[in-house]
Amino acid sequence: MIMEQGIVFSPNTIYWIIFIGVAVASWIVSASLEYKFKKYSRVPLRMTGKEVAEKMLRDNGIDDVKVTCTKGHLTDHYNPATQTVNLSESVYNSASVAAAAVAAHECGHAVQHETAYAPLKMRSALVPVVNFAGKWMMWVLLAGMLLLQIFPAVMGIGILLFALTTLFSFITLPVEIDASRRAVAWLDGAGITDAETTPLAKSALRSAAYTYVVAALGSLANLLYYIMIFVGRRD
Ligand SMILES: [Zn+2]
Repeated sequence: MIMEQGIVFSPNTIYWIIFIGVAVASWIVSASLEYKFKKYSRVPLRMTGKEVAEKMLRDNGIDDVKVTCTKGHLTDHYNPATQTVNLSESVYNSASVAAAAVAAHECGHAVQHETAYAPLKMRSALVPVVNFAGKWMMWVLLAGMLLLQIFPAVMGIGILLFALTTLFSFITLPVEIDASRRAVAWLDGAGITDAETTPLAKSALRSAAYTYVVAALGSLANLLYYIMIFVGRRD
């Protein structure tokens, strides 16, 4: 006998499959990132993260951005408000391929800011909106699910707020990938890394980019799940 009906998953089953899939993918990605950074931290270079950052800023004609040392692990970031490239202690003081890659990546963001790189401007414009959405979306979605049959508009608003945070995580992708591209091109061009170490810097930064890809896909999967509940509410 031929089964006419395929396997039908309920939204909850799909949610758990996605949830576990995203959790496993982000675990693999962060473990591989950690492994690569440890490994490339032991490949020496002649400049520390601080020196690399200062030189990259100078080479790009940026003289109003300061390089500072910040506490913690993987806390490296560029702050456009204070015009600072903040490097974690292990990057700031270390003279390794991993430190140079991170330092140059953060300077890549400073260069994006200086040259008014469009995706970065879009991302910055979305920050206050996303902060607002992030604060309220879970409550609105929860209320929306409870009121789904009598007042579906609440769930619609919740989905809209969630969609804004999903959009933000996707706009983050070109910004991060472009900063890494600028970093690798400069490291190689300025002779900080060579034929042997440039691919290592590239590989470390690619691993870092995957964490943003997984986060964006996870956010999209969640968004689709809520939309599925919303659309299927009359069933
Ligand atoms: Zn970045």
